[in-house]
Amino acid sequence: MKIETHVFCDFCRTSVMVSPASVEKVDWQDKDTLEILSVTAFRCPNCGNLSLKHIDDRVTQSLLHMLLKLKVKAEKLREKGQCLNGADKKKMAMLDRKLNHKRSELLQRFGPAVDQFITKLESNEPSHEQILEEEEH
Ligand SMILES: [Zn+2]
Repeated sequence: MKIETHVFCDFCRTSVMVSPASVEKVDWQDKDTLEILSVTAFRCPNCGNLSLKHIDDRVTQSLLHMLLKLKVKAEKLREKGQCLNGADKKKMAMLDRKLNHKRSELLQRFGPAVDQFITKLESNEPSHEQILEEEEH
């Protein structure tokens, strides 16, 4: 899958290419609901700081999973010179819309707290040892 999005570093405003090399994932637990959210951040090659990109919960993770399945299906069909049928295309657009909507909600709700967490994580514990294992409740 090609990911060619540019984002701006929160600290020095450098334009960063979002790629598997610049993206890091950490888990963050909401103190109220105790839900573990998956935080995607990117590292700036200029100043080395982490900036928050998006936050996922169980809902967005399952949406993402469904989207990915459709993308794989589309890819397989493309190899055979075919494309997704109308229903699948509609479903994909709907999932995409839902995902973006839900992610912006999560970002609004948890963004500031997660930002603080990332900054703290960076200053106290530069290693990735603190990453929590995903737990099923
Ligand atoms: Zn930077």
